[in-house]
Amino acid sequence: MAASSIADVIRIDSYGGPEEMKFEKMELGAPAVRQVRLRQTAIGVNFIDIYKRTGLYASPTPAVLGEEAVGVVEALGEGVTGLKLGDRVVYNGLQGGYASRRNAPAEKMILIPDYVKDEDAAAVFLKGLTVWMLIFEIRRIQPGETILVWAAAGGVGSILAPWANALGARVIGVVSTPEKAELAKAYGCAETILSSEDVPTRVKELTDGRGVPVVYDSVGKSSAEASLKSLQPRGWFVTYGNASGPVDPIAPMRLSQGGSLIMTRPTLFSYTRTREELERGAAALWGAMRSGAVKADVRQRYALKDAGEAHRALEARKTSGATILTP
Ligand code: NDP
Repeated sequence: MAASSIADVIRIDSYGGPEEMKFEKMELGAPAVRQVRLRQTAIGVNFIDIYKRTGLYASPTPAVLGEEAVGVVEALGEGVTGLKLGDRVVYNGLQGGYASRRNAPAEKMILIPDYVKDEDAAAVFLKGLTVWMLIFEIRRIQPGETILVWAAAGGVGSILAPWANALGARVIGVVSTPEKAELAKAYGCAETILSSEDVPTRVKELTDGRGVPVVYDSVGKSSAEASLKSLQPRGWFVTYGNASGPVDPIAPMRLSQGGSLIMTRPTLFSYTRTREELERGAAALWGAMRSGAVKADVRQRYALKDAGEAHRALEARKTSGATILTP
């Protein structure tokens, strides 16, 4: 039986701003049946952590924030199969990630291949699975098509553009600043549009008046209408995030007016409900990293205790690429 131990965590007692995020010690019991205990080495910061902190995505409080981390298995609960002490694993979609140590269900753990560093796995796992969902599972990207990607220099954007390129797509990226436009081009965007511009008009100019067959929109409230206007008939409006706030209601008639448009509002968790789905997504991601199609790009690093600073930067659009916390 594993001994109990002490973990450093970032906890909120109630919803609110980054000031609610408290750095505290927490006693950790032995891992329960089919759980492992991890000593965590790198923690991914994701926009969903902000939604959970503010209460936009309601979840019980008090709570330890964070959905994704990499760690080493340091204790096994009863009934764990397929994992051993010392294994290097990554998980996502398990709240409680902002911690130096934690107990978590073994069935959510994915082994990290030797060619992926801890920090890189924490940078790409949740975001890369999201891209896998977007470009393979919802609707497979077609070679030769032009796609529109919002927040193209962000964490998900840094994976979406190059992976779509590898499948033969031409990517138009929307970003807020010229510096982010340069970075989006480095990630593989053939063209960029500033969010301050008339996005649908620029999209039409860049597509000989046709519009695009699919828009990947993570900005939400402020971008939804521009996304709909950028689509060609029968195009896909994939609205998968709310960085600017949740999207206002869209009437079915609006989709008809745009030319039989298709709208989906996916969440990764419904695409990785089974172990088979999770392993399939992870295998695709590791394959894309092995081939070099996808690379981790950690551009911000913070100590775990400074997680509030990471949230402030992400919310203020001051980050690009991925952000990592180190316990
Ligand atoms: P990013 O690194 O992409 O950061 C968010 C970016 O959104 C900003 O850098 C900014 O880019 C842009 N943005 C536009 N408007 C605003 C605003 N008002 N406030 C803040 N940012 C704004 O974050 P992530 O990579 O962690 O996540 C990207 C998106 O993907 C999020 O919306 C997230 O919710 C979504 N997501 C959805 C998942 C799902 O299952 N549906 C899973 C994972 C992520 P710029 O300055 O260039 O405009």
